[in-house]
Amino acid sequence: MLLHSQKIIQEISAATKLNEALTILVKKIKAEIATDACSVYLKDSESDQYFLAAADGFNPELIGKLRIGKDHGLVGWIAKHEEAINLQNASDHQCFHNIPETGEESYHGFLGAPIIHYRQVLGVLVTQKQERQKFGMDEMAFFITISSRLGSVIHHFLTEVDFNAQLGDQYSRNIFVQGIPCSPGIAIGTIIMPYMADLQSVPDRITKDIGKEEEFFRAAIVIVKKELQEGSKRISDYLPNEARMLFEAYEMLLESDRLISGTVKRIHTGNWASGALRDTIMELARVFEKMEDPYMAVRAEDIRNIGRHILIHLQGNVRSHGNYPEHTILAASELSLSEIEEVPRDRLAGIICKKGSALSHTSIMARALSIPAVMGLTDLSISYFEDSRVIVDGNQGRIYIEPLPEELAKFQQQIEEERKISNRLEAFRNLPAETKDGIRIPLYANLGVDIQISLPILDIEGVGLYRSEFFFLSRESLPTEDEQYQHYRNLLESFAPRLVTIRTLDIGGDKTLPYFPMKESNPFLGWRGIRVMLDHPEIFLIQLRALLRANAGIENLKVLFPMISRVSEINDTLNLIDRAYNELLEEGMAAAKPQLGAMIEVPSAIFLIPALSRLLDFFSIGTNDLTQYLLAVDRTNPRVMGIYDSLHPAVIKSIYDIVEISHKQNRLVTVCGEMASDPASALLLIGTGVDALSMNPSSIPRIKWAIRNFTKQQAISLLKNSLQMEDAISVHHLLNSVLKDAGLDILVRAS
Ligand code: PEP
Ligand code: MG
Repeated sequence: MLLHSQKIIQEISAATKLNEALTILVKKIKAEIATDACSVYLKDSESDQYFLAAADGFNPELIGKLRIGKDHGLVGWIAKHEEAINLQNASDHQCFHNIPETGEESYHGFLGAPIIHYRQVLGVLVTQKQERQKFGMDEMAFFITISSRLGSVIHHFLTEVDFNAQLGDQYSRNIFVQGIPCSPGIAIGTIIMPYMADLQSVPDRITKDIGKEEEFFRAAIVIVKKELQEGSKRISDYLPNEARMLFEAYEMLLESDRLISGTVKRIHTGNWASGALRDTIMELARVFEKMEDPYMAVRAEDIRNIGRHILIHLQGNVRSHGNYPEHTILAASELSLSEIEEVPRDRLAGIICKKGSALSHTSIMARALSIPAVMGLTDLSISYFEDSRVIVDGNQGRIYIEPLPEELAKFQQQIEEERKISNRLEAFRNLPAETKDGIRIPLYANLGVDIQISLPILDIEGVGLYRSEFFFLSRESLPTEDEQYQHYRNLLESFAPRLVTIRTLDIGGDKTLPYFPMKESNPFLGWRGIRVMLDHPEIFLIQLRALLRANAGIENLKVLFPMISRVSEINDTLNLIDRAYNELLEEGMAAAKPQLGAMIEVPSAIFLIPALSRLLDFFSIGTNDLTQYLLAVDRTNPRVMGIYDSLHPAVIKSIYDIVEISHKQNRLVTVCGEMASDPASALLLIGTGVDALSMNPSSIPRIKWAIRNFTKQQAISLLKNSLQMEDAISVHHLLNSVLKDAGLDILVRAS
């Protein structure tokens, strides 16, 4: 039966319309368990009723017409209790409700199960038979297996296949697709995909000019080859051996006949160059993936990488920098920093992604740019909707594809309201971040994500976190020491005498460099941050030398090390710093040692603070990762986003402990994770006694607004009350009600 249930799910998934899929479903189930009737009820969320969407063994005229209230009959009972029932005689159940038109009075045995997708009941599946008898164990197992998988199938239909062609008027559907709210605000625009982001999302397109497509393709190969040669020459001095081999492998691939004539052949069948390339690369990658030798299997990733490079150049013929539509909603399975940067700032209106969550670095970037973003749209085939009009509701985490005029009008009004709120908040930029009882809270900026706003911002004390990896990510190859020196020097000079905290390269997790590929099954617990740097001292030393040089004569630099989980990592890093410093002096270059600190973001580091304090000057709490590692919840996985919460009492208690232990060691401690950008959480953090908050610059006005409405004493009692709570939801309720009482409900909505 297991095989049969899988086959049925496959068959219905292949249908083009939901009603078609459900009709197949009821027929198949009825045949499989030799029952007398099978029916599916779907929820109409507007009326909160369940309507008969498909049935076999029922009066067919009722399909689409029969509606059952949410508390009515056995269907209502199953939906409400989210539980299956197996009855010998349906009419014996207290909730049984006879509907004579159905023709079901001759049925007695009843088996029903809820259809659930991510905790939401979407409908109810029912089967009935004439015998007065419960359904057997095997039948029940088969039925439950089907119903448990139906949720995602139905959700898929409702979100991705032509909405209007679904069940027509029978079903007043939810016209939005629910994802995860990742950056607040509303945007209305056109869905545009950066094809280079994702080879798989390149659509097929019939070409009118085969010769021209072949020409584009061959020209792209020549450019990529040239770029590779130049890149490897430029960095050959300090390129690790394996990376140098990678460049060579890429070059060989570019010359391979399978790549070139494979793609040309496909172009000659009438597909455009990008589509032909996609198929060739996917085919080649599959060949490597199947190889048993793990080294060869990893080469599949190289092939996809080289494919992406070629695609970037092919894309130059499709969409140049200037011709993005005015309100571009950038959409992809995942988006990289360079893909976002590709869109001119004044045209980028919103971001939507299948993968990712509020704490992925794409979201962090969207917030830094104040661009509404929704991620975790797992069931949406984005490529299907290219060029469609869309509303991105970053507050609720919803998108509306081809919205109705009423929806458009509603959201346009919301955009207007938000504009008014943000004008009101802007007024706080010029006011000090001071509590009602006169305590000044130092606010710093998190920079690096958006290079253009790395210019001095007047209302902050300095830069609390400069994510240096974003500089590395936006390039085609590792930056040289001189390039890095110039970059850091500009940054330090533009903020001097204010302090600038630069974090050393933190790659791994969801940040990989296109020219330094890493593939791990569990990247957040793997090769990340300081671990990569210590394994590649040749790369680390270049960054350290550039930093020490940049600090010379200005001395406003603080350097922060990410992902610290053991003391030896700091000892090894200090040795490298000494080495870099001595080398520079020997070479006659100016250099100055900065203040040094560690990110406290891995739980083990909390217990090492006394030891780390003997080696370092300060600490910065990375609440994004601290939450991820304390709660064992992947910060980028949309499936578990509901349980990723920095207001979990364990996280709050840990922050409280970190501050207390650090202060005992006379070390200052800052919070630079996203928690500091949330007004309510910022109050809690102030209650813990942290010395400063560092946040994305667009959040500064609202954080100031919150700070200026409370006393430090209130923040302390808020913290004390929160520490008594047992779960995150109670902390949220507490904080929301406190903000509301203070008349700051807009901040609750805006966060
Ligand atoms: C953090 O982990 O909280 C942090 C600030 O660093 P990132 O988000 O870049 O990992
Ligand atoms: Mg981190």
